Parts: sequence; structure tokens; C-alpha cells
Amino acid sequence: MDTIFTKIINKEILSDIQYEDELCIAINDINPKSKVHILVIPKKPIINISTATDLDNNLLGHLLLVCKMLAKKNNIEKDGYQILTNTGEGGGQTVMHLHFHLLSGNAVTL
Ligand code: AMP
Repeated sequence: MDTIFTKIINKEILSDIQYEDELCIAINDINPKSKVHILVIPKKPIINISTATDLDNNLLGHLLLVCKMLAKKNNIEKDGYQILTNTGEGGGQTVMHLHFHLLSGNAVTL
């Protein structure tokens, strides 16, 4: 099922792109919850972690390493950052296409 992220990946709607490669796209969140708030989105339309499979092993690792690279690029590595993924409606997921939030500081307190 297509989501707004499919349209962003296909460049059907504009977004503020931070990084792109053959596997993923990273954009600034339209409603940032911290100074740096980037979404790292696989081009493969996986709904969320619950629907990922062993076939996605390498892709999931890649997404996390892209988060790390973007943390460094945005100079938040030293002060610290969060990587989180909401899973399912009850888990706060609003866009049903897997994405990792990269947030500077301690935006989400557990
Ligand atoms: P989640 O609630 O975990 O599914 O996160 C979805 C995120 O997508 C939210 O933080 C939204 O602010 C963000 N978002 C929704 N539409 C756009 C858009 N067009 N461009 C950038 N970020 C978006």
C-alpha cells in the first residue's frame, strides 16, 4: 500500500532530502521534535519491524549505519542522539512504511 513516503521516494512530492542511495532515502521530518530530526526510510515498502523478515537483515543494518553517518554529518554524535522506530498504531506509528527517527539530544524520555 502506498504511503506519503512512497511519494517522497518517487519524488512525486517534495521533501528536504539529507541523503539518498539505492536502498534508502533520508529526509528532514516536517514536524521536528528536536533540533535534528531526520527520517531514514528504506525504498522497499516494509510496513514496520513486525513485517520485516530475514531477507531484510542487510537492509536493516544499512539503515542503522546511515543513521550513524547522518548523526556524524549533523554534528550530534558527541552530544548524543536517539534512533527510534514506532511500530503499529499502538506503538505510535502514523505512516505505515518503516522508518527510523534520528533525533538529537534526549527528545523521547523513557
Ligand atoms: P511515525 O509517527 O513514527 O509514523 O512518524 C511519521 C513521521 O513522519 C512524523 O514524525 C511526521 O512528522 C513525519 N512526516 C509526515 N509527513 C511528512 C512529510 N511529507 N515530510 C517529512 N516528514 C513527514
